Amino acid sequence: MVFQFGYRGVKDGRPIISTGGLSALESAFMVLGWSDNHEIPECGNTCDVDGCMQESNVGTPWGDMYLRLCPDHFRLLIDKRERPKIKWYAVDRESKRDPVTGFLNE
Ligand SMILES: [Zn+2]
Repeated sequence: MVFQFGYRGVKDGRPIISTGGLSALESAFMVLGWSDNHEIPECGNTCDVDGCMQESNVGTPWGDMYLRLCPDHFRLLIDKRERPKIKWYAVDRESKRDPVTGFLNE
């Protein structure tokens, strides 16, 4: 629930999630023992472009990689611009993707 409905943002250069003042989320945060704002892991919660902390809301192929992108970096793809440097963990993740099935190998 908190990841589906919580408000994403960036504080002090780190990705966070907050209640936005919604009582249902405040209750959920309390159950989890989280403060409001709660820092969340960068990996899996932010854009795959190096240095970008925006929430990723698009999953799409870009060249030989499947990336999770924020709207700003998705715009670069749409505009056929050069792909920026990708975060190390995304490069690592994509090195494990099966080229035939597209599934990630563990
Ligand atoms: Zn981005």
